[in-house]
Amino acid sequence: MVKKPHPHPNPPLEGEGVGAPVASPDTTLSLKGGGELRYSRHLLLNEWGQEAQAKCAAAHAVIVGAGGLGSPAAHFLAAAGVGTITLCDDDDVDLTNIQRQMLYATADIGKRKVEAARDRLRAVNPDIALHVRDARMDEATLCELARAADVVLDCTDNYKTRHAINRACVAARAPLVSGAAIRFYGQVTVFDLRNNDSPCYHCLFGENESLEEARAATLGVLAPLVGIVGTTQAAEALKLLTGIGEPLTGRLLMVDALTMRWETVRVKRSRRCPVCSGREPN
Ligand SMILES: [Zn+2]
Repeated sequence: MVKKPHPHPNPPLEGEGVGAPVASPDTTLSLKGGGELRYSRHLLLNEWGQEAQAKCAAAHAVIVGAGGLGSPAAHFLAAAGVGTITLCDDDDVDLTNIQRQMLYATADIGKRKVEAARDRLRAVNPDIALHVRDARMDEATLCELARAADVVLDCTDNYKTRHAINRACVAARAPLVSGAAIRFYGQVTVFDLRNNDSPCYHCLFGENESLEEARAATLGVLAPLVGIVGTTQAAEALKLLTGIGEPLTGRLLMVDALTMRWETVRVKRSRRCPVCSGREPN
């Protein structure tokens, strides 16, 4: 039997409207900048509450890549009150970016991406600490960032950097949220490298030079697809930081936007993986 959809999937809350108070009057959050109102739609979730919000405020997320995936990921983590965000990119904003990279406006063309992104994210949430790295990420820098991070988001578009981020996260045992979007095909998964059962990126995708040549930057991509994937990465990062729900660890979520078919497949840690086999046995 097909389950009927809820007649109103988004029922209005009592008192909802412009300027109407939404937080309970006895809220005693010590959040800066009117946090009880800013984060009220999260605080209203039973699974979230003040404890999860405090975990967000204390957390550090590192986002590598401030393009199509990094834009929505950074936006939602900043808006949700992740206390420290480090955003890494070494490109300028150009006209071809504006079609899908939602942190940037046409007036930003020619600016450094991390600077335009920082301005935009500060306007969204001035209460968080934003750090930027305007450089191509080498292994040493990625290791330093992974050690400092509570979660790392891989929002890059080339396999060489993806593998370097993975090695850094394996070494630091930092949770890694990986996303990719090419043409109409997107995928997201979580490598929770604090967990001995979790695969790493290399367990799924070996280093292959022919793949490296197929840089996503040179291929077309449906604009909303990067929003779908980057936003999903933000959701998984928030779940990892707050401990709510069940992350995509050990599952690869794939979407074909042409047919809008979603599929999830199980992925396992490889015992022969040259990158992560040195961890504790699974
Ligand atoms: Zn591995």
